[in-house]
Amino acid sequence: MCKPLSLYFHVPFCVRKCAYCDFASWPGREGDWRRYFEALENELKDWSEITDFGRLSDHYCVQTAFIGGGTPTLAPAEVLCTITDQSRVLFPFAEDAEITIEGNPGTLTPEKLAIYRSAGINRLSLGAQSFDDGLLESLGRIHDARQIGEAVRMARDAGFENINLDLMYALPGQTMDQWIDTLNAATALGVEHISAYSLIVEEGTPMAARVAKGEAVLPDEDAVNAMQRAAIDLLARAGYGRYEISNYAKPGFECRHNLVYWRRGDYLGLGCAAHSMLQNCRFHNPENLDDYLAGGRRPDRQRLDARDILEETVMLGTRTTQGIDFGLFSGTDPARLKRLIQADLIAIENGFLRLTRGGLEVQDAVVLELLEVLGC
Ligand code: SF4
Repeated sequence: MCKPLSLYFHVPFCVRKCAYCDFASWPGREGDWRRYFEALENELKDWSEITDFGRLSDHYCVQTAFIGGGTPTLAPAEVLCTITDQSRVLFPFAEDAEITIEGNPGTLTPEKLAIYRSAGINRLSLGAQSFDDGLLESLGRIHDARQIGEAVRMARDAGFENINLDLMYALPGQTMDQWIDTLNAATALGVEHISAYSLIVEEGTPMAARVAKGEAVLPDEDAVNAMQRAAIDLLARAGYGRYEISNYAKPGFECRHNLVYWRRGDYLGLGCAAHSMLQNCRFHNPENLDDYLAGGRRPDRQRLDARDILEETVMLGTRTTQGIDFGLFSGTDPARLKRLIQADLIAIENGFLRLTRGGLEVQDAVVLELLEVLGC
């Protein structure tokens, strides 16, 4: 019987660094594209051959693949699609496999989108972030709001029927009206999926320096919470169900790839800074592009013990609105769970324990409590 497998390819090239970005991505490395995609192919080939887990392609069938970054749509489309072609040579793919490419609206053309479609890529995830040109500029994005709509229209013309927009709130200087306008602009485009992330100011980024100098002022906690609640309500009215803390989809368009992460399925992460999870072993590739290109592909391995697995199951599974198998709690103290139910932080339904809307707002604290109940 074929076991489900997911593939993630990290493509770490960008036009320039956005002000808030601490992802593994590098501008000005166009000269390394070919070499990098060859390294990805070699890494995939290594995984498809005999490993400690046997020959993976004999036991696994790819259900989802995700080409993320960085800006994968910056690379020449025919070079990028060597990796999807090679994946199909090395692994069996499910007929209905979900194959996503992450794109920046400033880098798409009808020609590129047509090549992606002919390579079997059937989902597009666009880093839109905002529909306010002033905010986009302050974030250092390379596109404006008009280009987001243009990218969606081009993708529809190319045959994409499953499109996500990534949006950000809690931005310096962002008002509630600007956020509502962005949500309305996104839903008006009729996309199938919307991810709404709160800005996290990461140390060492230009954004962090601006905040430290007082040049950029972040909204306070109440304003951030109000923006999140506004997103939940507005998106629900527009037909997008919340299925994870930051993710909303029209029925049937939940991102299958990301659900694999939250449900701790098996996946291979290829490329610099990519992580894999296979049969309760985690693997970490080198973070740095040059180390990866120098052949540092053999990843560090960490075998998870029963406690690690339980902790991950609770931490990741409670992010989703489905929650986690209530059977995990059999034999634990019911009084503590009862208190969480009475405080309207968790609910138990259909054999699952899930966090309520209020519980998701304080997910870290509820997870700690649940882990204590489980004796972790
Ligand atoms: S496009 Fe994405 S990965 Fe590239 S610099 Fe901006 S935030 Fe980072």
